[in-house]
Amino acid sequence: MGDSVISLKNVHFSYENKEVLTDINLNIKRGIFMGLVGPNGGGKTTLIKIILGLLKPDRGNISILNQSIDTFKDWNRIGFVSQKANSFNKGFPATVFEVVAMGLTAKIGYFKFFSKKDKEKVMHTLQLVGMEAFAHQSIGQLSGGQQQRVFIARSLVSDPELLILDEPTVGVDYENVNRFYELLNRLNKENNLTLLLVSHDTGAMTKYVTDVICLNRTLHFHGKSTEYTSLSEHELSKIYGHPVQIVIHDH
Ligand code: ADP
Repeated sequence: MGDSVISLKNVHFSYENKEVLTDINLNIKRGIFMGLVGPNGGGKTTLIKIILGLLKPDRGNISILNQSIDTFKDWNRIGFVSQKANSFNKGFPATVFEVVAMGLTAKIGYFKFFSKKDKEKVMHTLQLVGMEAFAHQSIGQLSGGQQQRVFIARSLVSDPELLILDEPTVGVDYENVNRFYELLNRLNKENNLTLLLVSHDTGAMTKYVTDVICLNRTLHFHGKSTEYTSLSEHELSKIYGHPVQIVIHDH
């Protein structure tokens, strides 16, 4: 339990009278790169909302960074990037630097000026995601994949211990999807950032994550990604309710 970032015990959740999550037991340890997969409608987004404290379970216990979610307040230690992040239009009036700096305002308050140290922090975080050369460009002028890197930087600038990403590669083209997963892999290995990546795509991401949980109303699998990729098509089809083939995309 000592190095657990997220822990769920016997969690159940219903929308009105329909139970969509049944008896979820989950432990995300510090330093792992967890992929959350499963069919559409399987409950992935609901589970993320529960972990972020946006929905309250009917039953069960949840701990975030070893504290009960009921008393947890340090939400800036948890970063979140949603699938809708890369949708700024061309005219959006902010530079890349400003968008990343917004990630610091939760800590320092909107009306304070940024110190030299804050500015260096923003530039350093842009460097981490390989976007420092774009600091003074308009966010709306960048491609979907580039914008997504900037949103990662905005989440990282406040030094979270866990980064949760909900379908972050929607709208990002194939080549950039792999580069994006490589960036996450590097942040996990070199910066010891714990990651929870939600995807309905069982292909490319299983090559990068260290662990996988597979959710279809209840957890059908919770283990190492190598074990997940060695599941037979028959076993996967039982979980998904339709034929499934894991395609590992190599470059
Ligand atoms: P996933 O993210 O894996 O696609 P969701 O968590 O979005 O799955 O949905 C799980 C189930 O809960 C689905 O059957 C969905 O129709 C239902 N659901 C999701 N949101 C709501 C809601 N706000 N009200 C009622 N039912 C919902």
